Amino acid sequence: MTLSSPQQVRALMLTQAEDKTVTATLRDDLTVQDLPDGDVLVQVEASSLNYKDGLAVLGRPGVVRRYPMVPGIDLAGTVVESSDARYAPGDPVLLTGWGIGEQFWGGYATHARVQADWLTCRPEGLSAQDAMAIGTAGFTAMMSVMALEDHGLTPEQGEVVVTGASGGVGSVAVALLSALGYRVVASTGRPQEAGYLQGLGAAQIIGREELSSLKRPLEKERFAGAVDAVGGETLAGVLSCLKRGGAAAACGLAGGSGLPTTVLPFILRGVALLGIDSVMCPPERRERAWQRLSRELPGTLYSEGVTVQPLAEVQRLAEQILAGQIRGRTVIVP
Ligand code: NDP
Repeated sequence: MTLSSPQQVRALMLTQAEDKTVTATLRDDLTVQDLPDGDVLVQVEASSLNYKDGLAVLGRPGVVRRYPMVPGIDLAGTVVESSDARYAPGDPVLLTGWGIGEQFWGGYATHARVQADWLTCRPEGLSAQDAMAIGTAGFTAMMSVMALEDHGLTPEQGEVVVTGASGGVGSVAVALLSALGYRVVASTGRPQEAGYLQGLGAAQIIGREELSSLKRPLEKERFAGAVDAVGGETLAGVLSCLKRGGAAAACGLAGGSGLPTTVLPFILRGVALLGIDSVMCPPERRERAWQRLSRELPGTLYSEGVTVQPLAEVQRLAEQILAGQIRGRTVIVP
């Protein structure tokens, strides 16, 4: 479907009925005048599919704060108009978080009008589609790695485990850590993805239950660090087998928001739990993370771990991501 006028806007729109039922409709009858206020109008060339987008599109509570809403928690494209001196027409930009697709209209559209403060300059050479192949999930993986590095983690200290490894955050974390010289252990509930994960650089694959079945707060010390996208019993298991002084970056809850553990790993082994919030991350740290992603992410992530899909497929894909069936990253083109 092509748009007949540059003023015309196509968007996936979520509306909520009185009985709270949420409906997603692909609209091509909007114009840029229908977009909310903001300093910068961006032509969206790509967005992506994240776990949170799955929750939003299927009307699960806790993500979308108001309706009607255009979902899509990230986007990449080119500036069309700007009333902010930092941006001019033609500038390549990207945006993750800051509440787009939750409180403010997001990336599942051909255009978005946003606050200049939310934008990040797209690093040179990074196309909009490549930026969204990384997207919020990849940015979160980079933030997790940076938090572990700030804690003092180095490859010489030992293995690093990545949970939910076949998913978006997990795939990028495996690829990044491996490229940085770490020996990566990938934890997955999908043994059929072992070849994929090895291709991204995982040195060893372990089953999901190997961590989630650990019930004691202190197990044999094994990992120097961890990137955890799963939470729940899996994160408790990770904490129980971190080495003395090790750290886990907690960034997700695909397996649950609970944390059935005790203080023992913290007070007897001095391990650290590092919280990762990609939504409100300050601009300077974002800039640094994106520069590193554009330089350090190996090409295998793009060649093996990325699927491109049109906006019309989002609803079907939302069901798949919540069912844990999406491998790697999915780019959405409007
Ligand atoms: P994906 O669905 O792509 O990845 C999640 C992975 O977790 C799945 O692929 C699967 O991996 C594993 N998984 C799924 N369900 C379960 C389960 N019931 N028990 C154990 N493991 C499970 O999602 P994303 O990568 O986009 O996001 C991952 C998590 O990170 C989400 O919870 C998301 O909300 C969170 N997140 C947080 C951010 C932040 O700022 N803190 C930003 C971005 C994401 P496998 O099959 O390999 O086991």
